Amino acid sequence: MPRRAPTPRAKRRATSRASKREEAKLRQDLERLALLSPGGSPDHPIDVESPTQVDVRAETMPCPLCGGHLGLEEHAAKTIGKERLRVARCRCLECGEKREIYFRLVPALDS
Ligand SMILES: [Zn+2]
Repeated sequence: MPRRAPTPRAKRRATSRASKREEAKLRQDLERLALLSPGGSPDHPIDVESPTQVDVRAETMPCPLCGGHLGLEEHAAKTIGKERLRVARCRCLECGEKREIYFRLVPALDS
């Protein structure tokens, strides 16, 4: 007796399980990528000339996972080694992903 083909319902379940796994993997990849991108970690902060630029830059950066808008939750000053860094703690308004973006204050050349 030939094996019965899976019912459409069983098939749908299997596909959604597979795509959940894919999605989780994709998120992991994107998170890793975000850490390596400018501002993603204290090792490679984004240079800004004044603290006010931090807020502006942070809020115009897209969410690394879904491309949605980031809302700034906290803007903190941090000193790591000799560097004066600013950390913008953001949360994606679309998917809720939290992200910390690092900035370094550098004096303006013309001032
Ligand atoms: Zn998002």
